[in-house]
Amino acid sequence: MSGPKHECGVFGIWAPGADVARITFFALYALQHRGQESAGIATTDGERIVKHRGLGLVTQAFTEDDLRPLEGGWAIGHNRYSTRGATTLRNAQPFILQTLHGPLGLAHNGNVTNARTLRQLLLERGVGLSTNSDSELLLKALAVPVRDERAGEVGESVWLPRLQRLLRVAEGAYSLAVMNRDGIFGLRDPHGFRPLCIGELPYGDGQIGYVLASESCAFAPIGARYVRDVEPGEIVRLGPRGIESWRSPTVPRPAMCVFEYVYFARPDSDLEGRSVHLLRQRFGERLAQESPVAADIVVGVPDSALPAGIGFARGAGLEYIEGLIKNRYIGRTFIQPDARLRRDKVRLKYTPLRANLAGKRVVLVDDSIVRGSTAGPLVQLLRDGGAAEVHVRISSPPVRHPCFMGVDLGTHDEIIAHQKSVEEIRQHIGADSLAYLSLPGMLDVVRESDAARGYCSACFDGDYPISLEDGTTKLQFEDIHGA
Ligand code: 5GP
Ligand code: MG
Repeated sequence: MSGPKHECGVFGIWAPGADVARITFFALYALQHRGQESAGIATTDGERIVKHRGLGLVTQAFTEDDLRPLEGGWAIGHNRYSTRGATTLRNAQPFILQTLHGPLGLAHNGNVTNARTLRQLLLERGVGLSTNSDSELLLKALAVPVRDERAGEVGESVWLPRLQRLLRVAEGAYSLAVMNRDGIFGLRDPHGFRPLCIGELPYGDGQIGYVLASESCAFAPIGARYVRDVEPGEIVRLGPRGIESWRSPTVPRPAMCVFEYVYFARPDSDLEGRSVHLLRQRFGERLAQESPVAADIVVGVPDSALPAGIGFARGAGLEYIEGLIKNRYIGRTFIQPDARLRRDKVRLKYTPLRANLAGKRVVLVDDSIVRGSTAGPLVQLLRDGGAAEVHVRISSPPVRHPCFMGVDLGTHDEIIAHQKSVEEIRQHIGADSLAYLSLPGMLDVVRESDAARGYCSACFDGDYPISLEDGTTKLQFEDIHGA
């Protein structure tokens, strides 16, 4: 699989007359956990399109002076996730274009799995490309007309049939915020791998605007209200006619990424209408039932495993207590630690709270072990802090397979549970005991309110919902060109 992988944050807003760039800035600020490599905002009035992108956190990428030229009535924004690849502005989103039908902007979260095929189709069509990003392919595919395009027809957006075609030709994961003269379009791939939701934003003199975000945690800080998720395979338009929707006639089994519940989403978000925090607590409770251990206290690894830690303590009838303090200002640093400090990377981020740990048998709850470079140093940190025993409990099953749908979990070689058994991992991390939540246990929790719901759990069970062979589906020129 080529090209940069990215678990990102996307946002869109339709609110003519409001300061949409500023609102987008604060929405991206709330979606910062989804990506720290770069941030960008593009705004339009339907004719002109302006953008600014910068490296680092949203607060590093934007100054007041950068926001000022971003005028318009609607906007999109993007936070990009840092991968091990080069940190470069060239891949920073949103991507924008001028077209025959006015400006076009796109912000993408996910990973397109048939990028090579799409790239070939576009190049054959005479479309030039300037990055190796799969997101640029989506943008350029939108710029290609569909057959018999009836531009400018009253009440019809030229962009809708093009977006519908995109749902047919692009495979893999893509939650999109697309901006053009007709408003803000939101789109989720037919499996719905990555989340996307809609909100309502009261502003000005009794006006109602609309927003689109990867997660609902972006809404409260900007004064918006969660309306609903965009459904897998659905296209929505936020514009002068409010929220409009088009659904694909054929939608495969939904396969939202279960890792969003495990790690990625912010706990104060609702996914599929449910509190991420509460689900994580239930993971912890379930884990306590499945793999109890004699101990004195339960400590969660800040921040992502705190809800699971609380749930484990509740399920086990043990005291939940803080045992690790995380430096909350750590953000993303471009300063690389030297060799000595790199060995102690976890120590740059966490310190043990000796006052709570001394002499205690500790259950350390984390949400996941991926490469296996974090858990060992954390166990050692707790022992240094005085813990008598350290029992590690992981509130998800062993991650055994790479993700091709946008989460950067590394390759088979890098994923520790692909290489080692649970007992070997226990020895590797130096824990007194180690247990993971079972896959049926995790799926029971996420399916509690709807037993029939489908999820992608490929990183745990290797059962990929889509073909990963780029090029097996023979796309024809007509698929790009024709409606
Ligand atoms: P590892 O086992 O790879 O050393 O790291 C596991 C730790 O990384 C866990 O504490 C988990 O919360 C966190 N984690 C899991 N997935 C991701 C991810 O995609 N990105 C980042 N930055 N951390 C992750
Ligand atoms: Mg963590």
